[in-house]
Amino acid sequence: MITTAQAIRIIEEMASIIQQNKDYLTELDMPIGDSDHGINLARGFQAVTTKLPALADKDMGTILKTVGMTLVSTVGGASGPLYGTAFMRASMKVPGKAEVDMVDFMAMLEAAIDGVKIRGKSIPGEKTMLDAMVPAMEALRAAEGQSPAQMLAAAHAAAQVGVEKTKAMVATKGRASYLGERSIGHQDPGATSFTLLLGVVASAVQEG
Ligand code: ADP
Ligand code: MG
Repeated sequence: MITTAQAIRIIEEMASIIQQNKDYLTELDMPIGDSDHGINLARGFQAVTTKLPALADKDMGTILKTVGMTLVSTVGGASGPLYGTAFMRASMKVPGKAEVDMVDFMAMLEAAIDGVKIRGKSIPGEKTMLDAMVPAMEALRAAEGQSPAQMLAAAHAAAQVGVEKTKAMVATKGRASYLGERSIGHQDPGATSFTLLLGVVASAVQEG
């Protein structure tokens, strides 16, 4: 379904979608954070881009692990260690692989979610990236048996619904939690960035 060459193109696309949405993500982080989510991720994915040429002949596990380690060391903020952990946990599900299928992808997303939960001491419903990740995982499970493109489209749609639902949530983790009830009405930046990244995977598989 996704070869290492395609994975590298997907990661390049992720860097570019984050760059395109840098101001948007930063604006979302203004009312409930410190206005840096887009800046943080853009810095991290820019650093990832510089690592990609050296990864061309590497396996899926090595590629994803490198992305995770680079994000941890360059993103800063809460989201750096969380996204870094997510990619590193996902990498552990595909060591040595030249290609991943939907079974692998589901194991990767599940491992990424577990990593964020442990690292962030968080659960769904706390107005974080988990509120896009977990609905995406549930949609994958519900769509099992359909084509990869259909499954990923369903997961992306579920993540988008999850992002909308973060608006009504009270933040209880991360900087937004300092605002308590005043965080209501605002969309979570991390849930939004995760949904953008998942959208890149969904489109790549759609196109084949
Ligand atoms: P910081 O909050 O340190 O400035 P960012 O602005 O880059 O870091 O990222 C904020 C995003 O990180 C939030 O929108 C939220 O989705 C996510 N986040 C923060 N803390 C947690 C946590 N404990 N668990 C899961 N996600 C979290
Ligand atoms: Mg921030």
